[in-house]
Amino acid sequence: MSEAKIIDGRKFAAEVRRGVAAEVAALKSAHALTPTLAIVLVGDDEASHIYVRAKGRQAEEAGMATLEHLLPRETPERDLLTLIQRLNADDTINGILIQLPLPAPIATPKVLAAVDPAKDVDGFHPINVGRLWSGAPGMVPCTPYGCMAMLKATLNGLAGLRALVIGRSNIVGKPMAALLLRENATVTIAHSKTRDLAERCREADVLVAAVGHARLVKGVWIKPGACVLDVGINRVSAPDKGKGKTRIVGDVDFEVARKVAGHITPVPGGVGPMTIACLMRNTVIAARRQRGLPDPAI
Ligand code: NAD
Repeated sequence: MSEAKIIDGRKFAAEVRRGVAAEVAALKSAHALTPTLAIVLVGDDEASHIYVRAKGRQAEEAGMATLEHLLPRETPERDLLTLIQRLNADDTINGILIQLPLPAPIATPKVLAAVDPAKDVDGFHPINVGRLWSGAPGMVPCTPYGCMAMLKATLNGLAGLRALVIGRSNIVGKPMAALLLRENATVTIAHSKTRDLAERCREADVLVAAVGHARLVKGVWIKPGACVLDVGINRVSAPDKGKGKTRIVGDVDFEVARKVAGHITPVPGGVGPMTIACLMRNTVIAARRQRGLPDPAI
């Protein structure tokens, strides 16, 4: 059996970013519109700060404007809601991103539901969730969108394929399942209470792992020739790199799985880069729709 083809997320992401930058340049010259993304971060979670910096950097590289609101951990929920209302009402803001997780006791669903659905570039507002499941145009969450873009570019159609999504979060698992269903795959969602995960994996032509558990999916569980997308980001110790060193691995045992799968995303360099690129894409889409312009072909 030959080795799996690697799905190069960095390459896909670079292509999306190029398309976004071209679209932004066109909006500026033809419509005097600079797509603008407001990023709201509450608290001092280190990973969140790294993500926010990366998002801001990529937005600016694409020619967009960003406005960062870095709020202290103890920010009251009502202040956050007031800020969101202000951003909703501000016509110069096209996209609003609330970096998750929000610190307790802030009620995340309440905050996400306060964002104007037209500016909801993460696609987490209940109206956009409903649109996704009912097949209406809306904002699609970035990680599943990126996964679907790579799947479509890799496979010759998904109709009738058996797809397994491991994980049922609102951010990845559920919207991923909705997108696969939209492409006529036969979709199973596995989660923490699933009893026969190995069996479900063995049946899957397409496997999307979004759990957050290092190497949970064993290579021998993969159906030969399957297309495997590994969303997981897990930091594990890496004694081979030196004492106290760590590395990032996915939810799939990559080294074994790559000998069985037909296609597979690496971690890092797979799904991750596409997520931020798709956020940029969503921001351009939001800006265009707010001006009554059709969606771009990015
Ligand atoms: P989450 O914690 O919200 O959800 C995890 C899901 O895994 C839950 O639905 C749970 O039921 C399921 N689960 C837990 N243990 C399981 C088990 N033993 N068997 C089967 N299912 C099990 O996490 P999330 O926000 O969906 O993120 C999942 C992973 O993806 C994390 O590692 C996260 O860091 C990563 N992530 C990556 C990107 C990216 O851009 N690459 C984006 C978002 C999330």
